[in-house]
Amino acid sequence: GTLLCATDLRKAYGPTKALDGAEFSIHPGEVVAVMGPSGSGKSTLLHCLAGIVTPDSGTITYAGRELSAMNDSERSALRRGEFGFVFQFGQLVPELTCVENVALPLRLAGVRRKEAERTALHWMSELEVADLGSKRPGEVSGGQGQRVAVARALVTQPRVIFADEPTGALDSLNGELVMQLLTEAARSANAAVVLVTHETRVAAYSDREIVVRDGKSRDMERIV
Ligand code: ADP
Ligand code: ADP
Repeated sequence: GTLLCATDLRKAYGPTKALDGAEFSIHPGEVVAVMGPSGSGKSTLLHCLAGIVTPDSGTITYAGRELSAMNDSERSALRRGEFGFVFQFGQLVPELTCVENVALPLRLAGVRRKEAERTALHWMSELEVADLGSKRPGEVSGGQGQRVAVARALVTQPRVIFADEPTGALDSLNGELVMQLLTEAARSANAAVVLVTHETRVAAYSDREIVVRDGKSRDMERIV
C-alpha cells in the first residue's frame, strides 16, 4: 500500500499560490524524485508532507492517519520518530564532533551515549565516513559533511527520509556519491525517500518522478 499520500494540496503565501492542487504518493522503501523549476512549489510540497507547513486545504495521509487530525505534539513525535531530514547545508551542529552529530537524534530520544555512538558509527560506515568521527563539521569537506548529515538522518531508522536538494552545494562527482550512498542506505533500511531536486542527474537515482509546475502535480500511482 501507500505509506504517504497527498491529494489536492493548496497553500498560498499572500497572493502567491505556492501549491495549487498538488498530489503525491510514495510506497515503503520507494525513492520518489520531486522535480520542477525553481519556485514551482517543490519545497512547499516537501514541508507539507513532513508536517512542517500546514496546507490551506487538501489531505495528507501517513500510514493511514490524516496529518490534519493530529495535534502539534503528535506531529512532532512523528517527525522525530518516523521521519529523517537532509537539507542542502548548515545542518550539522558545529560544536559537536561528527559522531556526536550523528548520535544526537538518539541522545534526544534518551538512548545512552555509548549505545548511541555505536549505532552512529554503524551508519557512518555505511556512508563511508566512519573515520571522521572525532572531527568537527568545520574540519571536513562539503561532500563528507553531507554524508555525515545523511548518516544522522538514518540513525533513528526512519520510514521516510525527506531530502531537499541534498546535493545542491556539492560538485557533480560528490553529488553522485552522496546520492549513491543515500539511496543504498535507504534501501537497506527499507526507508522511503522524498527527494526534491531540479537536477536530472540526481533524479536518476529515484524509482519514479513527480513533476511540480506552478504548484500543480499529478501522480499516476496515487490510486492504489
Ligand atoms: P521550489 O522549492 O520549487 O523552488 P517553493 O516551494 O520554495 O518552490 O516556493 C513556491 C512559491 O512560494 C515561490 O513563489 C516562493 O517564493 C513562495 N514561497 C515559498 N515559501 C514562502 C514563504 N514562507 N513566504 C512567502 N512565499 C513563499
Ligand atoms: P570531498 O569533496 O570528497 O568531500 P575534498 O576533495 O573537497 O573532499 O577535500 C579533500 C580533503 O580536504 C578532505 O579529506 C577534507 O578533510 C579536506 N577538506 C576539504 N574541505 C575542507 C574544509 N572546508 N575544511 C577543512 N578541511 C577540508
